[in-house]
Amino acid sequence: MPYQHILVAVDLTEECDPVVVRAHTLALASGAKLSLVHIVEPMAMAFGGDVPMDLSMLQQQQFEQARERLNNFTGKYPELSADQLHLAYGQPRQEIHRLAAEQDCDLIVVGSHGRHGLALLLGSTANDVLHGAPCDVLAVRLKKTEKA
Ligand code: AMP
Repeated sequence: MPYQHILVAVDLTEECDPVVVRAHTLALASGAKLSLVHIVEPMAMAFGGDVPMDLSMLQQQQFEQARERLNNFTGKYPELSADQLHLAYGQPRQEIHRLAAEQDCDLIVVGSHGRHGLALLLGSTANDVLHGAPCDVLAVRLKKTEKA
């Protein structure tokens, strides 16, 4: 059975371009719908979740900036229309799974650095997304030289 709805997750860096290209090629080959998502991670998470101040204004700005970055990033892909783009707020694994289930996606595409050593112990988004995913997951290998 060919895939029907592919969800590609991007961190909005140029590093994700090969991930989008792979997802788009797959979507064309299988006649699947393609959706793209970026997750804005709450600032509190970066501080370990325990911040003694109100971050709501900053978070609103963070979300608006992410929308602008999403528009800039997807400007390179005119084949993606606005209704195919999603911006969510929260923990990437949880939000990518939620959206994939909500949108009846049968494949999630993410980038993977194929980390080793300490980075492997700390985990990666690709690894995180794989566990408990509601559908297939494709990890597109990103070349080390592409990492800034
Ligand atoms: P990382 O392990 O954080 O280097 O990210 C690996 C891949 O996970 C990226 O290439 C994206 O496909 C995906 N990813 C990472 N962060 C996000 C995010 N905030 N929103 C959506 N996808 C993400």
